[in-house]
Parts: sequence; C-alpha cells; structure tokens
Amino acid sequence: MNYRMLGKTGLSVSAVGLGGIPVQRITPDETRALIVRLAELGVNFIDTARGYTVSEEYLGAALEGLRDKFYLATKSMSRDYEHMAADIETSLSNLRTDHIDLYQLHNIKTEADFTLAFSDKGAVAALKDAVKADKVRHIGATAHSAEALAELLRHPEIETVMFPYNIVENQGEALFEQAAKQNVGVIAMKPMAGGSIEDGALAVRYILQNPNCTIAIPGMAELAEAEENAAAALDLSPLTDDELARIDAIRKELSGNFCRRCGYCAPCTVGIDIPSCFLMEGYLKRYDLADWARARYGAMKAKASACVGCGKCEARCPYELPIREKLRAVAAAFGE
Ligand code: SF4
Ligand code: SF4
Repeated sequence: MNYRMLGKTGLSVSAVGLGGIPVQRITPDETRALIVRLAELGVNFIDTARGYTVSEEYLGAALEGLRDKFYLATKSMSRDYEHMAADIETSLSNLRTDHIDLYQLHNIKTEADFTLAFSDKGAVAALKDAVKADKVRHIGATAHSAEALAELLRHPEIETVMFPYNIVENQGEALFEQAAKQNVGVIAMKPMAGGSIEDGALAVRYILQNPNCTIAIPGMAELAEAEENAAAALDLSPLTDDELARIDAIRKELSGNFCRRCGYCAPCTVGIDIPSCFLMEGYLKRYDLADWARARYGAMKAKASACVGCGKCEARCPYELPIREKLRAVAAAFGE
C-alpha cells in the first residue's frame, strides 16, 4: 500500500480508504470480514457518517480488536454547538472508541450553514472543545459545490476537505491545488461518480495521479472491491495510452447526461433540490441501496414530480443537461 500525509493532520493515510455508505446494505458479519481484509491489505482509513443509518454501528462492532489499525473519520449535518456535541458522543458510542481521528461538518453548503457553524455557538466550537477533550483529533468538512469548497479553505481550523472527484467531475481541481498549498488534506469522494463509472481500478488510478488529492474513498461492501481498489492504489505509475483512451471514452459517454452537482441550476421555481434528485436515483438504481434512497427521497420537501417545466434550471446548467426529462425519469423511478 502507498501512504500519504493527510495535510496538516499529520496522519499517514493509505491512498485508498473505505467509503462507508455501502456498509448499510451488508450484515454485521460481512462488515467484519470487510474490515479484516482491509486491514490485511494495508488500508488504514475509514469514513462514515451519522447519516448513514447503521454504518457507524456496524463499523464499531467490526473494529473490535482492530481499532488501532485504522484512522476513523465520521461526520454530522449538525451546525450548532449542542447538536454537534451530542452527535460526537453518539459517534464515539457507535464506533466503540474513545476518540475519532477526523470529525467533519457534513455537506456544508449555504451561507446560513457557514454563519452558524463557525459562530461562537456553532458546530466548529463543539468540535474544537472535543479536540481539547481528546475525543476528536482533527476537524474537517465535506462539500459538493466549488463555492462551498472555496469558503472552507478560508477557515484555517478546517484541516481536511472532502469533495466529489472522478473522471467526469473535476470541478474541484483548481481548489485542490490551493488546498495543497495551504496544507489542507483533500479526500476524494464519489470516485466512481455515484456508480456511473464501472471500471473501479481505472477510477482510482485516475484520482491518485493528481498530486493535490491525498486519498480516494470508494464505497466498498464486497471483499473483491476491497482487493481491486487496494491493487489500484499500489500502482502509481503514469496512466497508459490505453487507460487515457478509456478515460476519454467514459467522458464522452457520460458527459451529455451526467449531473456534476455544481448547483448552478438552483433555485428551482418550485423548490426541487435537482442534484439530490439525481443522486438519489443513482443510489436507487446502481448501489443496491433502494430502501435508503427511498427514505432520503421521501424526506425531500419537493419531489421531482413537482416540476412545472418552466425550464429556468436548464438555462442555468453549464452542462446543458435535459433536467426536465431527467426529473421525469426520477419521478417514474420513485413513483412520486
Ligand atoms: S423546469 Fe422544473 S426543475 Fe427546472 S426550475 Fe422549473 S420547476 Fe424547477
Ligand atoms: S443539473 Fe446541471 S447545473 Fe444542476 S447541479 Fe447538475 S450539472 Fe449542475
């Protein structure tokens, strides 16, 4: 395994880590088998979230006796002090540990999010207090839009950023360069573009070619996936002509119809969270996470079926996606 320094945290992390979303669809025994195999392969970074239903709990049980082989990262959507402090305690209990190596603000995006999270009574103050109490070792954040990523880089207490990065989503690259200059660790989420890219090894190799990106965290549930990703992270040689041609072909295939979650289409006339609709449809169809995707979609205030077809979003989408047509497909897939 290759190891890299995760920015100013000083943690030496494996070039691939476990993305913990798919743990929700396997059993506790399968989670244990996965963790044992990852430890054998030299993978030493696990990322999960309070929002991934049973993921923290299954991982906590699976880590019995193996806790010291891994750095543990989790995250919370809480933005105020009280709720973040409570979430840290829940994560510690679920993960059966006395400290979490990296605790992240999960999917920070709006101005209101930033204002509250970084205020005296905000989530970051709770995280700093948890660092003083040695319950949390480092503070990070995750984001999906370039604007939010740029804003995060203005806050020196944020030691790592997690952002979508893959063959077809490279909107963060310039900011990764800035992050590297500031010694902020960059964690690439969605390395397979939410399951759209089927060649997992190529997807991992592509990400690890970028010296400004520290680690890729593909979601894994099967031992074969763990082995394929670990093998890909062993090979840091330059991409071959054949691999470059395959990357080109993937871009051509997906480019006209792939949502990069940039958010430029917002605001929708009727309040639909357009990129989240597409993301949930991906989980429904490709990741075998149908129940989870249905629950998340069901909690959304405005469903894809609410689209009135005004077309304003399409005029704002820099990738010219047929948003209305795609939303009709989402509505058909979820039945609402
Ligand atoms: S076309 Fe539909 S999704 Fe787009 S802004 Fe109008 S109502 Fe919203
Ligand atoms: S639909 Fe277009 S504008 Fe909206 S998030 Fe996706 S890529 Fe960006």
